[in-house]
Amino acid sequence: MLTGNEHIKRLTEATITKGREPHSIIITGERGQGRRTAAKYIAASMLCEKNNGRPCGVCKSCRMIRDGIHPDFMTAQPNENGNYPVEQIREIVSNAVVAPNEGRVKVYLIPELERSIITGEQVQNILLKLIEEPPDHVVMILTADSKEAFLQTILSRAIALSVVPCTKEECISYLGTLGKYEYDEIAGACDALGGNIGSCIEYLEKQSIFFAVQNARAISAALVSGDEYELLRVLNETDSKKGQLRETLRLLSEILRDGAVASYGGVLTSCSNKNARALSQRYGSGRCSKLYRCVSEHMTKLDRNCSKTLVINSLCAGLSVI
Ligand SMILES: [Zn+2]
Repeated sequence: MLTGNEHIKRLTEATITKGREPHSIIITGERGQGRRTAAKYIAASMLCEKNNGRPCGVCKSCRMIRDGIHPDFMTAQPNENGNYPVEQIREIVSNAVVAPNEGRVKVYLIPELERSIITGEQVQNILLKLIEEPPDHVVMILTADSKEAFLQTILSRAIALSVVPCTKEECISYLGTLGKYEYDEIAGACDALGGNIGSCIEYLEKQSIFFAVQNARAISAALVSGDEYELLRVLNETDSKKGQLRETLRLLSEILRDGAVASYGGVLTSCSNKNARALSQRYGSGRCSKLYRCVSEHMTKLDRNCSKTLVINSLCAGLSVI
């Protein structure tokens, strides 16, 4: 179930077969690249009844993890803004001392910590005691987009793993095995989102991601042509849903990041290599970096619940003066 990322599979197998499973694991990587799948893989490896370092995929425990019903694999649930309620984390800490229900260990997963902007630090402080002195049967897995989301005190006590994107070929082949999509659809998704399987599935399943890709391409094209009216028009068109604007800005920031590295021959991974190269030619690396920072700052504003209209107007003004 975990595509690519052999380094994670090898390390998991080695630690389990030597009986030296870590108690705290941090998994970093971009959204959609498989952080949660990697966490599930590790949990399944630790809880598999065959206990040989890899999930067998057929025992009761592996099947329960696949179906999301294993009583010893718990995933914390953030609120709609991505913040974890601190009461929930306190409950995890007090439950952790209780022995596992069925398996050798209890695995707790707290995913996407980078989105818990308001409570992220508090959450980690609450977990610190458990991470410093974990009961033998407790494994804590935290995920985020980068190590910057973690407190130093947590980082120093956890094993840090990072998921790497699959190749386009691996992604196309995996999506093909699902038997749900036409080849052309899969190729279109991989063309927009590279080897990011999670994002490709979202692109194929959810119209909002499909439109976010189209919008990010249109905004970057407007930046290339210097058309402020078009810029404002597309930004306003990003629907009334905040999620779609956020996703559009994330994809746009990747195009701008690629624009900043294109002139150095960096690897381009955004949803529009063509626009990234054109931006690089028009603005140069330095101004592309400034545009990238401007978009990133506005993503943070959205995460902090600023009004969408204010964010759009401020972003448009910000991008126009660079
Ligand atoms: Zn198994």
